Amino acid sequence: MTATVHGFQTQVTKLLDLLANSLYSNKEVFLRELISNASDAIDKLHFLSLTNQDLIKDDPTFKIRIRADKDLKTLTITDNGIGMTLEEANNHLGTIAESGTEAFMKNLTGDAKRDSQLIGQFGVGFYSSFIVAKKVTVLSRSVNASEDEGVRWESDGNGSFTSEQVKVPFRGTQIILELKDDESEFLDTWRLRECITKYSDHISTPVELYEEKYEAPKEDENKDEKEGEKKEPEKKFEYTQVNNAQALWTRAPKEIKEEEYNEFYKHLSRDYQDPLTYAHNKVEGDLEYTSLLYIPKTAPWDLFNRDNEHGLKLYVQRVFIMDKAESFLPNYLRFVKGLVDTNALPLNISRELLQETQVTRKLKKALTKRVLSMIDKLSKDEEKYKDFYKQFGNVLKEGPAEDYENREAILKLLRYASTNKDEAVCSVSLDDYISRMKEGQDKIYYLTAESYEACKNSPYLEQLKSKGIEVLLMWERVDEWLMSQIFEYQGKEFVSANSQDLKLGKLADEDDKKKQEESTEKNKDLIERFKKALGDKVKDVVVSTRLVDSPSCVISESNRMMTMQMRRLLEASGQNIPEDKFTLEINPEHQLVKKAYAEMEEERFATWANLIYEQALLADQGALKDPSSFVKAMNSLLIG
Ligand code: ADP
Repeated sequence: MTATVHGFQTQVTKLLDLLANSLYSNKEVFLRELISNASDAIDKLHFLSLTNQDLIKDDPTFKIRIRADKDLKTLTITDNGIGMTLEEANNHLGTIAESGTEAFMKNLTGDAKRDSQLIGQFGVGFYSSFIVAKKVTVLSRSVNASEDEGVRWESDGNGSFTSEQVKVPFRGTQIILELKDDESEFLDTWRLRECITKYSDHISTPVELYEEKYEAPKEDENKDEKEGEKKEPEKKFEYTQVNNAQALWTRAPKEIKEEEYNEFYKHLSRDYQDPLTYAHNKVEGDLEYTSLLYIPKTAPWDLFNRDNEHGLKLYVQRVFIMDKAESFLPNYLRFVKGLVDTNALPLNISRELLQETQVTRKLKKALTKRVLSMIDKLSKDEEKYKDFYKQFGNVLKEGPAEDYENREAILKLLRYASTNKDEAVCSVSLDDYISRMKEGQDKIYYLTAESYEACKNSPYLEQLKSKGIEVLLMWERVDEWLMSQIFEYQGKEFVSANSQDLKLGKLADEDDKKKQEESTEKNKDLIERFKKALGDKVKDVVVSTRLVDSPSCVISESNRMMTMQMRRLLEASGQNIPEDKFTLEINPEHQLVKKAYAEMEEERFATWANLIYEQALLADQGALKDPSSFVKAMNSLLIG
């Protein structure tokens, strides 16, 4: 059979071009990627062999071997894992299946400096071989294939690869890198030893390096030799195990260095960065388990994508069972990476069964608490927490509605902007807010709008501000949804600043109500004229006591009002949303309202009334149904 030439998927070609240049300063990572792939392949076969020992009977000891050949200038990495068939090799080593890498490609800007920082956020796996190699040859034989059904895959990284079926005498995969001329450092066993220790000490499979065997000269041999005639002893090479080969999480936390935890994270998550924080716990007693949980520094691009695959690695008695087991953490903690190892589940547990067992439920409960306390701990460091919150704050906000049991604990972790601070930074916790509440205040006031600016300048804040009451400002899409799901924190009710009744309670001035009544009476005629002019566009027109600087505002019946943004979203998804009708509040003391009232001609007054109503709508919703007629009306009044 002759080899078939295949073109790489376009993304792969682009990726390869970029890799060669941008990862140059950290090129040794190719070894981490190849060792990680080898160890995954071994984990997969190890798992299959639990129920079918025959699969590995010819070659039962799992290992990864690394060998440099100085004459040929090659570096070879061999594993006796699950291997690949021809079809698998064509698919896995010719395209980018991993969605993360695809997203990475989309994020590229063409600015080499920026792009090389970006590349650090995504795992690029096998392709990183081309950072140091001018040619890569893969020989592989799947565990399910015979000797004659092996694969030879080859590429120089320039747009295409060849592949063919060949005889492969061993099970597993061998990757032969023909190193570029200036990469000979990776032929040096000392350099290799250094990299292997760094990248694979925590891997439970032995990693062996082919290196010179040191033999002490034998006494009696030397005796016979004359001075100056010492013969160079013949160099002997053999494979020696370099790594510790003890799964990291099985070691005592006290003995593990931060660097080791970080390296293990990179192996596990295929992230190039160190994690933000981690927690390693061994729990004994009723339900015995070990967990090692990490919070990444950067959110994956598909955090809000429904198809996002997430979850922990599951090990049972240190044997790898499955990847991305979702049942151990709630959805709102889907950014957590790590593993759980327990004796309490059977080795042959399936994904489906896993969801249903009591043990899983118990573990989920315990791990959720663990992660929440990790985040709580992180929140004590304001700077670090800001970074965390920027990345994961919006996912965390899904929590209070999803996880009733931990609702208060999650709410405690949320941060908002507020009228107390003059910046669009989310740094105020609900506890901060409560600690600053005014005497007699028993509600938590908040406002949702389209943006920070829209919040900050909202007329709804005027009365609360004038009373010195702090208001939390929210403008993320998820905020509006969350606020429709939660009603109180620490026994304190949430009240939207745009609701008709602010429930000011003791905070209301004694005579607020009286003032309103008096003002209504005094402005009866004004109100009537507005009502007549606006007809059934509005639900009602009332005199406002909350407005200070603005002429008008609109309020909806409940404080669970839907913003235009949400409405558009729902309408776009085909839902029929009943028209919201607003009550218009007007500020009779405002110059604009006074000017309108002075207009004697009713038709022109109607234009004023519409303008005052629509500008309130615009301020609140950020958009109008018919902006051009609004502009027309405004212009006609400006011209006078
Ligand atoms: P990732 O490992 O992130 O999926 P890679 O580009 O490193 O991405 O590898 C792509 C795929 O190729 C792997 O998912 C695996 O299916 C296959 N593969 C790579 N190396 C090996 C190996 N040593 N043994 C078996 N399969 C492998």
